[in-house]
Amino acid sequence: MTEPQPQFDIIICGGGMVGLLLANALATHKLSIAIVEAGGHQPGWNRDQFDLRVSAITRASQRILSTLGLWQNMVDMRISPFREMHVWDSTGNGVIHFDSADIGQDCLGHIIENSVIQLALQQRLKTFDNIRWFQPAIPSELNISAQQITLTLEDNSQITAKLIVGADGGQSWVRQQTGIEVQSTDYQQTAVVATVKTQLHHQETAWQRFMPTGPLAFLPLPDGYSSIVWSTTPEHADSLLTMDDAVFRQTLAEGFDFKLGEILETSARAKFPLRAQHARQYVKTRLALIGDAAHTIHPLAGQGVNLGFADAATLAEVLMDSVRSKRDIGSLKTLRRYERWRKGDNLAMLSIMTVFKSLFGNNNAILKTLRNSGLNITNELTPVKNAIIRHAMGLAGDLPRLARCEPL
Ligand SMILES: Cc1cc2nc3c(=O)[nH]c(=O)nc-3n(C[C@H](O)[C@H](O)[C@H](O)COP(=O)(O)OP(=O)(O)OC[C@H]3O[C@@H](n4cnc5c(N)ncnc54)[C@H](O)[C@@H]3O)c2cc1C
Repeated sequence: MTEPQPQFDIIICGGGMVGLLLANALATHKLSIAIVEAGGHQPGWNRDQFDLRVSAITRASQRILSTLGLWQNMVDMRISPFREMHVWDSTGNGVIHFDSADIGQDCLGHIIENSVIQLALQQRLKTFDNIRWFQPAIPSELNISAQQITLTLEDNSQITAKLIVGADGGQSWVRQQTGIEVQSTDYQQTAVVATVKTQLHHQETAWQRFMPTGPLAFLPLPDGYSSIVWSTTPEHADSLLTMDDAVFRQTLAEGFDFKLGEILETSARAKFPLRAQHARQYVKTRLALIGDAAHTIHPLAGQGVNLGFADAATLAEVLMDSVRSKRDIGSLKTLRRYERWRKGDNLAMLSIMTVFKSLFGNNNAILKTLRNSGLNITNELTPVKNAIIRHAMGLAGDLPRLARCEPL
């Protein structure tokens, strides 16, 4: 007996930023898509208060979002450009400074609240009738046969598709169901985030101070506010979270060497344990992993969601090429093209972050001297510096069509 046709072309499991970017990329192409999101409906973006979670969005991601018609809505809500980046080592005189003007760009990237990105992605999807939401919906079983995948939800309903995409974050249920292993390193750091107002204006600069316990970043927001990400030991993170506001403001100003003066205001604080993780495989027949489901990375270079957006843009391109040539979108041959394209880039970024973390977390006197002089030498080497900037902006390497401002 032949199996009935699957109900959907694609099930995207996980409606975070990366899963919804993929849905947006494919929505105009008339593929039928089910989005299965375990969480309830989020309160959305709050105009009167900055979201504690923000992302540094690269120029490559900006291009993807612009090509899909999402960028202007985000600009209309709230975004904040950063034109310069200043990084220094707390244990010596090592400094490196990047300026977008040096490479003829008006900015290096933008700091955007996650809720702004999420809302823009959701609002555009609501304009399509080929997108079906299952939310809140918790998947309980996944079966993959030769012709289709069947996803059973906790209420025992079943949905079928030609392909399932795991976009369900670092603890990916989809990844675990399919037995894909991850290579994992505990950074032994926890990131504490908060929104603060500083005495001195941030000058549209992303600031980062490297300390032996981890980096402390101040990311510029509108009206002179900054979003801070302080990666530190788990014990120190706990104490930063529980100290009262006045003590926290003083500790933060000292930790940042008063670079932006006193801390005048602080929001509530939240913490996130940090792990590097990389899936050994991104694809199997009828399955692909994207975003944090495939890789998680230290936030020090602000690359996590940008790598995820590149995954989504690349997978969308590979799938559309397959549709146009009338091939099966769930075949291993189709999906391997996506894996080959993305895995090397993601692994390279993961490795760089791990080296950075170890290099700056080391108190060895020789290493201290080397990294301080290394920063200063690199700061003077314009071609090397420009190459680093282009890489950090996501403009190096083999970019998917959407990141080249071309339609899918
Ligand atoms: C402190 C901090 C700062 C960061 N700063 C930056 C930055 O500046 N720039 C940057 O690029 N990146 C940054 N990142 C990384 C970035 O936040 C992540 O890479 C990004 O959120 C990953 O998005 P995602 O959609 O893949 O996963 P997630 O955001 O984890 O979304 C997964 C979604 O899947 C849903 N889900 C989970 N399980 C299931 C299930 N079983 N079934 C259905 N749905 C499920 C979840 O509810 C969620 O909506 C930072 C991370 C941290 C911790």
